Amino acid sequence: MSQQIKYSIIFTVLILTQVICIIKAHKSEKPIKKYISKVNLAVILPLWSNLIIIGSHNRIISIIGYYLYYIGMTLVMVTLVAFTNSYCQGIRREGEKEQKPTIMYIIGTIDLLQMGILSICNKVFLVEPIIIDNKLYYKSIPLLGLTLHRIIDYVIFGAIILMYIIAILKTAKIYREKFYVILTTLFISGLAQGYYITANMDIDKSVIIHSIFILILFYLALYHRPLRLLDTMLSNVVSDMNDAIFVFNNKNECIWANDVGYNLLNIPIGKTNKVKPAIKERFGDLENRQENWIEDVFLAENKEYFIIEKKSVKTDNKLLDGSFLVIKDSTARRIQVEKELYDSSHDSLTKLYNAPYLYSCIEKTLHTITSIGKKYCVIYIDIKNFKIVNDIFGKKFGDQVLIQVADWLRTNMKSREIIYGRLVGDIFGIFMPVDLFDEQLFLNKFSNFIVSNNEINHQIYVHIGIYNIKDKKLDVSIMFDRAHLAIANNTDKYETIIKYYDNTIRNEILDEQKLISSLDDALKTNQIIPYLQPITDINGKVIGAEALARWIHPEQGCMPPYKFIPVFERNGLITKLDKHIWECACELLSTWKNKDLFKDLFISINISPKDFYFTDIVDTLMTLTQKYEINPKLLRIEITETVMMSNFEDKVKIFNKLRELGFIVEIDDFGSGYSSLSLLKDMPADVLKIDMKFLSNNTKSQTIIKNVINLSNDLNITSLTEGIETESQFNQLIDMGCSLFQGYYFAKPMAITDFEQFVKERRCV
Ligand code: C2E
Ligand code: CA
Ligand code: CA
Repeated sequence: MSQQIKYSIIFTVLILTQVICIIKAHKSEKPIKKYISKVNLAVILPLWSNLIIIGSHNRIISIIGYYLYYIGMTLVMVTLVAFTNSYCQGIRREGEKEQKPTIMYIIGTIDLLQMGILSICNKVFLVEPIIIDNKLYYKSIPLLGLTLHRIIDYVIFGAIILMYIIAILKTAKIYREKFYVILTTLFISGLAQGYYITANMDIDKSVIIHSIFILILFYLALYHRPLRLLDTMLSNVVSDMNDAIFVFNNKNECIWANDVGYNLLNIPIGKTNKVKPAIKERFGDLENRQENWIEDVFLAENKEYFIIEKKSVKTDNKLLDGSFLVIKDSTARRIQVEKELYDSSHDSLTKLYNAPYLYSCIEKTLHTITSIGKKYCVIYIDIKNFKIVNDIFGKKFGDQVLIQVADWLRTNMKSREIIYGRLVGDIFGIFMPVDLFDEQLFLNKFSNFIVSNNEINHQIYVHIGIYNIKDKKLDVSIMFDRAHLAIANNTDKYETIIKYYDNTIRNEILDEQKLISSLDDALKTNQIIPYLQPITDINGKVIGAEALARWIHPEQGCMPPYKFIPVFERNGLITKLDKHIWECACELLSTWKNKDLFKDLFISINISPKDFYFTDIVDTLMTLTQKYEINPKLLRIEITETVMMSNFEDKVKIFNKLRELGFIVEIDDFGSGYSSLSLLKDMPADVLKIDMKFLSNNTKSQTIIKNVINLSNDLNITSLTEGIETESQFNQLIDMGCSLFQGYYFAKPMAITDFEQFVKERRCV
């Protein structure tokens, strides 16, 4: 084969290859594609022109071919500059502006111009006919134009090399690889060109090297993935991971592990041969399983949790390349999750279930119960006056009480069928089969539940409401509501009680609702009126009276306060009722003003603890005395001692204010609550009302009453004893130094007219 044919084939193949590259580049998504395809396009011109030169055997056509070749090479250089500029962009630092290689474009233009100008006077090159393999071939002999063109091309070439060298210096090590390849090929094609020029070869073959170089560029720009970069990055990621990673080859020998892995197994770093035995020792035999698996492992010894995952790696032809094992220590996470779960389902103080969790457990149990006929109940335990425990003994002590109840439940409610928890504050809830409920057990514990600190032993009462579950589909919260309703009407009972929700309770609640809805009407139509019970001095002379509410009900007749006062106290409506009674008392005092027999009599009114929340007592009483123009001295104010148990200081202020305004303040029901004698000296009261019924059942009652009377006398507080039923009681109290007296012995509470009549008759005696 002649040289011409050989090179023609090579040039044609190269042209086709470049065309394919252009088509391929067109499909690529990389922005660099437009630069590389321009280079591919540019190099087609010198290839094609060389094809013309080699195949023409005609002088003119050869000259045109050489011109096209040189112009083509300049275009290749210029497009290469543009490509290189863009390709090396990656190394530019953030914020650095892209600089266009304008100078290089100008130099390229100058080259084309000089060749154009010098071609006019035939100063670019000459062609010389030579015979190669018996065929005519025109070889070019450089003149000024071609020499200048070659110099310019080498300048641009040098600039391109410089751009790559700068790129190599500026870029990270792992990226340099591609620049080295380019630089090397660039060098080779530069040398090839130089060799052709200096060796004065017949056929210029340097364009072959150039076009191969451009093919390499094409590959690097569009297809080369820096594998080493990926490898380095991946291995860094794996090494830095918090999980232990072990890599095995296809013979299942450990070939690599990260530091976490060695540390986890407690073996020296790098000792891959120790990995497998160490894994076996720690986690048992993990072999003989499927290829890919993941498993949660719990090591009971140290209470550790792990997630172990094994994955096989296969080549495309499905042959095993190896595998890797990832061991994730999930202990901390598990503990955290368990803690979160515990916290969200348990009460932090007593460590019992909280209400939402208790409800959901009960719901689940009720849902799964299969044994027909077995009966269940929910139990609602409310610690009475827990606020007072907190107030007197302190919150810490109150917490102790709750913990004691919780501990008792833990030790006594051990059956798996019993579920219990703390519903809220001082309320506990239990769910259990009815046959397991031992009423006596609860009564024994809570009838004698005494908490004590250094000074005081305090008896705690609980109210226990029970709802026997009839409808298992009923909302659990409603079941507990019903258990609560069973004791709702007993808030004023200071003893431990157990009550069942039944129809009576239902009816009571309905009755209560009726009372509540008829209160306004009853007040308007004067169904609710004060009865008066006389208060006497040591001579039995009536000096005043206590106003005690009575509801003269159209259907039920004269209703005593215990039937309605607690109802209204529970919901705060008591204040409405009290204000009405206070007003009646003031009105009465104003009518007595001008009657000699009555003008000095006082009336004691009752203040409910709730009144402190719902009204400004001082202001209301002041307004009333002004409205009825009565002397505040004649209006005595009875406040139960339990009121003093909370916000003592605030209460002291209110008491002082009332006393400043001239009212007489009485501490009612002394002995019923928890007030200590020491508290008495700080209470700004004028009268101490001691209730016989609270103290008479005590064997030491005589002594206690005597001491209380003595103390109040010492403190300059008038002592009044109520609940006197016999003459001997009266005489005893006189002996003890008591000043004022009230009780059935003198008279029961009576209607106003009856009272007035009573006073008249007494005076006449
Ligand atoms: P209290 O303020 O301690 O009133 C004294 C209660 O003892 C009265 O019962 C009275 O009838 C009763 N009593 C008086 N002497 C004797 C006696 O010798 N033996 C016995 N066993 N009892 C005697 P009442 O009227 O049924 O009132 C009960 C409670 O209802 C009162 O206790 C008071 O806390 C409350 N209450 C009555 N009226 C009102 C009121 O208008 N407003 C408020 N907030 N509470 C009232
Ligand atoms: Ca009273
Ligand atoms: Ca009383």
